[in-house]
Amino acid sequence: MSKLGVFDLSVRYGKIPALNDVSFHVQEGERVFISGPNGAGKSSLLKAICGAVSTSHGRIEMDGDLLTGRPPEAIARLGLSMVPEGREIFGSLTVEENLRIGTGIRRDLEAIETDIDEIYQSFPILRERRHAAAGALSGGQQQMLAIGRALMTNPKLMMVDEPSLGLAPKIVDQVYDTLIALQEERGLTLLIVEQSSLRAARVGGKMFLMRGGRIVGAGNAAEMADEDALAQAYFGTPRVEGAA
Ligand code: ATP
Repeated sequence: MSKLGVFDLSVRYGKIPALNDVSFHVQEGERVFISGPNGAGKSSLLKAICGAVSTSHGRIEMDGDLLTGRPPEAIARLGLSMVPEGREIFGSLTVEENLRIGTGIRRDLEAIETDIDEIYQSFPILRERRHAAAGALSGGQQQMLAIGRALMTNPKLMMVDEPSLGLAPKIVDQVYDTLIALQEERGLTLLIVEQSSLRAARVGGKMFLMRGGRIVGAGNAAEMADEDALAQAYFGTPRVEGAA
């Protein structure tokens, strides 16, 4: 049984189709990238999986449980967490208040303090700045905070939408180093939307390439980022400069 199974999934916004019959699997402990150009449907796919947008067709399963039709809180309780595009942290709240917001669905109140401490161990900068307004953090620190907040629900599967967005390449390196370390420490399964397939290839893992609401390619990220394969998938031409 795969960790996550997506079967013939379609999503529409009114009459606009965003996803068309998308099917794929993620195995336990894998790191899987969804890559592709703007408007390919990458964010819609993650939003459908975490229950934030409704589906018009198909089904989603995690560990054999049906996710389709469940509200986002119920899906989170099953062990799925999302780091949204743009991070969506609360800038006027402190770093620690932002971490505690993620605990709303938890019933094991006494374990929350231990978990906050563990997050501070993974992200010492967040401990240092725990009483600062989150809006005062740098972009990279805000991304770490968004990841820390997602960890507060103790996920088994974490989805991250565009962690590189707006960050300098060196900071993106740090964010990915952190994600890989967390994956090793916690045995997390990661599903990451990363527009740059070259970045995905550098980090390593499996990759699904999307275009026009469909998966148009799948394989090892390093092989998939091959320039010709990308050019063909993006533009339908054999070779386009700077296709990645
Ligand atoms: P980006 O990298 O630009 O976020 P994406 O690959 O994540 O792109 P989506 O954001 O999922 O793509 O968008 C897929 C399609 O659905 C696009 O045509 C987009 O314009 C449309 N779309 C997305 N969100 C909405 C919405 N809330 N209402 C109407 N159409 C939408």
